[in-house]
Amino acid sequence: MNPEYRVTASRPREKRQAYVEKEDVVIEGIDISGTWNRMYEPREIFDYDTTQMDRLTALEGAESMGWCYQCAQCVPACPVDNAGGDYGPRKVFRRLQLGMDLFDHSDLWLCTTCMNCLRVCPKEVDMIKIMPAARAAAVLDGKVPGELQEMFQKVAEYGNPMGESARKRVRWTKGLDVDIRILPKEKEASPVEVLWFVGDFYAYHQRGIDAAQAMARVFSRLGVDFGILGVDERCDGDSQRLAGEPGLFEELAQHNIEQFAKYDFQKIVVSGPHAYNAIKNEYPALGGTYDVEHYTQFLAARLDEVTAKLKGTFEKKVTFHDPCYLGRHNGEYEAPRQVLAAVPGVEMIEMYRCRQQGYCCGGGGGGMWLDGTAADRQVERLSENRVKEAVEVGAEVLAVCCPYEVSRFEDAVKSTNNEGRLEVLDIIEILDQCMESA
Ligand code: SF4
Ligand code: SF4
Repeated sequence: MNPEYRVTASRPREKRQAYVEKEDVVIEGIDISGTWNRMYEPREIFDYDTTQMDRLTALEGAESMGWCYQCAQCVPACPVDNAGGDYGPRKVFRRLQLGMDLFDHSDLWLCTTCMNCLRVCPKEVDMIKIMPAARAAAVLDGKVPGELQEMFQKVAEYGNPMGESARKRVRWTKGLDVDIRILPKEKEASPVEVLWFVGDFYAYHQRGIDAAQAMARVFSRLGVDFGILGVDERCDGDSQRLAGEPGLFEELAQHNIEQFAKYDFQKIVVSGPHAYNAIKNEYPALGGTYDVEHYTQFLAARLDEVTAKLKGTFEKKVTFHDPCYLGRHNGEYEAPRQVLAAVPGVEMIEMYRCRQQGYCCGGGGGGMWLDGTAADRQVERLSENRVKEAVEVGAEVLAVCCPYEVSRFEDAVKSTNNEGRLEVLDIIEILDQCMESA
């Protein structure tokens, strides 16, 4: 061995040769001989068993987990960690090094795929691809939390996560003073401008039904030529895909694409960000490419017509919660704000975490059906954390535009003792109220 070098530290004999420090090193007059060079000594980290990491990164889509270099930028950005879940890609990476079997661990189910970590990660560790890939492997192995499995079964059997019959999908249209074209009921459906993809929560959940009826009234007052798929519509499948059931997603998507093909329409307008994400970004790979808009985008493009119909006022302090799958995932931050700002009387207040930095409600990535799993790890629900922020900035109304969120946040308002202090409303309900009082 070159006498200039000596072996450092107490590394295993077989590894020593590679790790040495120079005895006499002077660089630009600075003596960095001997122990100063210990910075070159590899950390113990290289000695860990890579079995668990290798199992994960071998999956298509999960490769980037291995790229993490532990800078920790993602941890404060992670809403789950923020809610006491001791989480984030850095922590998942580290636990994998320490031998965690992710496929049989609650870490697999906590991520909501909110994308806030990817936004700050210098190595592009992509939890939005890692988690669905790892979950799909766990699902195939039968290692699924019971609450999620139940949802998968209901969707497979009934086409919606509530387990309601397809027949009841149009029940929300009954008793409405609005003409709604239910396209499958028409013998030979004539062309329609807008095919409104209503979605499960708008069709079946009571607070969603409120919003669906508000939307129908608003569309009608604006003279929008619209129709719905009625009993032939099925769940968009986005949450099922993200939660580890890509096969179920494909079945649902294929079904919806077949229904879309039956009608002549100009664009699809969706009620929710997950339907928007699925139809815009995932359906094309399965043969369905459409002009699709979230309802706030559709209305923002007709703001003059909307404004002309807004006769009443809404004199409240309103804050807006950016849905992860409309904002970070699809870059739309302005349309909901433009629509809200057009309502006379509204005083807009931003929360600290908004737009690109928006906080997650906890419902994405299958989180809607994983509250029990999350409760075992988190100090609070993400929705509770968010509601506290809305109250803290002085908002009286938390405005949302995702069908998952009204019920999630209303529950959180109750559990954080903020009843009477904060009201949760879909943006479309606010518009409807102001048009109603015209
Ligand atoms: S930000 Fe990226 S590289 Fe840094 S610790 Fe997190 S996952 Fe790893
Ligand atoms: S996607 Fe969101 S929830 Fe998942 S690890 Fe990243 S920041 Fe946390």
